[in-house]
Amino acid sequence: MPRQPAKARGRESPEEKRRRVLEALRMLVRTYPGVTLALNFTTPLELLIALILAAQCTDERVNQVTASLFRKYRAPQDWASADRTVLEGEIRSTGFYRNKAKAIQGCCQEIVARFEGKVPRALEDLLTLPGVGRKTANILRGNAYGQAAIGVDTHVARLAERLELSPETDPDKIELDLNALIPDKEKVRFCHLLQAHGRGICLARKPNCPACPINRLCPYPVAAGVPLALAR
Ligand code: SF4
Repeated sequence: MPRQPAKARGRESPEEKRRRVLEALRMLVRTYPGVTLALNFTTPLELLIALILAAQCTDERVNQVTASLFRKYRAPQDWASADRTVLEGEIRSTGFYRNKAKAIQGCCQEIVARFEGKVPRALEDLLTLPGVGRKTANILRGNAYGQAAIGVDTHVARLAERLELSPETDPDKIELDLNALIPDKEKVRFCHLLQAHGRGICLARKPNCPACPINRLCPYPVAAGVPLALAR
């Protein structure tokens, strides 16, 4: 169900909202130049594995773990035929290791059996892989295959709410709203920027609005009564 905005942003038209978000995007590009996905990968398969491991885990930890894993397991067959107990031990530090090992091997078995050993490109195919939801599928499509896709993770969802880009709480519906607002060529970078901003300034518990470069474009400080001018 759509949430009620803390404070409605006047009667902003869709076009005004689009202009506002593009202005915010330009400012975030200057704040986070060259921003990219924080997970290390060189192939679509590596990104799929990294995304599975990243659930409830930091990207830094995943990168530590995959540095050696990606040298040991290269093809989907390697992952699919790995000893489950050994694999669980290798990914244990990422948490939920039993479920993750099962998902990795399930995905790789399907990729071998149904997709000729290649990670599929189409959203509908990716969604048939065990444990792969829209967020993972879209991050993979955008970053491994260069497709215009928005993966709604916790940072993207939180920023979309605070910036009043979507009144929804369901990530699938947030994705729809953002897809309508963000130009195709900016969709992947838009997600990277929101993730960087969500980690650096617009923190979940307490956003640092006075230090935020887009605070004049964001309804949240006014709605939350954050005194921007005094805090500067
Ligand atoms: S003004 Fe505050 S809530 Fe809005 S994006 Fe910046 S840090 Fe987040």
